Amino acid sequence: MALIKTEIEIEKIRTSSLLVGKTIAEVARHIKPGVTTLALDKIAEEFIRDHKAKPAFKGYHGFPATLCISVNEVVVHGIPGKRELKEGDLISIDCGTIIDGYFGDSAFSFGLVPVAVELELLMKRTHDSLLKGIAIIAAGKRVGDIGYEVQTYVESFGYTVVRDLVGHGLGSSLHEKPEVPNYGRKGNGAKLEAGMVICIEPMINLGTRQVTQENDGWTIRTMDRKPSAHFEHAVVIRNNGADILSSFSEIEQVINPDILITR
Ligand code: MG
Ligand code: MG
Repeated sequence: MALIKTEIEIEKIRTSSLLVGKTIAEVARHIKPGVTTLALDKIAEEFIRDHKAKPAFKGYHGFPATLCISVNEVVVHGIPGKRELKEGDLISIDCGTIIDGYFGDSAFSFGLVPVAVELELLMKRTHDSLLKGIAIIAAGKRVGDIGYEVQTYVESFGYTVVRDLVGHGLGSSLHEKPEVPNYGRKGNGAKLEAGMVICIEPMINLGTRQVTQENDGWTIRTMDRKPSAHFEHAVVIRNNGADILSSFSEIEQVINPDILITR
């Protein structure tokens, strides 16, 4: 599997990743108390298919839905279902699409107002840790440099970094090399080269970093059942930085008084 993408491939991954941001924004317009996570999933699937794309997660190793919707103590891979969202929930939405054989992948966490201050801060700092990890990227750096930035920032607030799940390369497959942990040491790990496309996706916990998988074979939740936040961008490595292929700008423009949107 080629780690270095051509500019044509990069633009296809960008197109797909931008649709993911638009899809999450569309879902965000519909988050309100009492809505089920399955209803949000249907909105996402219809939106993606209306844009002549395919949901990337549906059927991936048997995953049954378009979105991963992970509420409160669920870290990632929550399966949409009958659960009704309620005030105070922290809702992480992860989405993937396929357009013309290339994958998009991005995630965002929302609060259903009123949100506890400690959850608002957890989301804000997880969001910012993603941007800090991206900010140090350049050809010649290593994945450990990204992880170091994310980890040192969030641990300064007493949060913990999930280790069992990591970011990844992205292209004509949803998960390619290299693995991109959200923890690490400067100068360690795979070298970043211009043209590589990676997803950086910090999963940050209020309590323990230990996680456990539910019997459904998917849902990952914190061992202590304290909340977790998740944000994800797909980026291409350039000689002097990173070009973010996904986008939160559509999400940031959503007007929905029921939700808290981290900016
Ligand atoms: Mg994702
Ligand atoms: Mg991902």
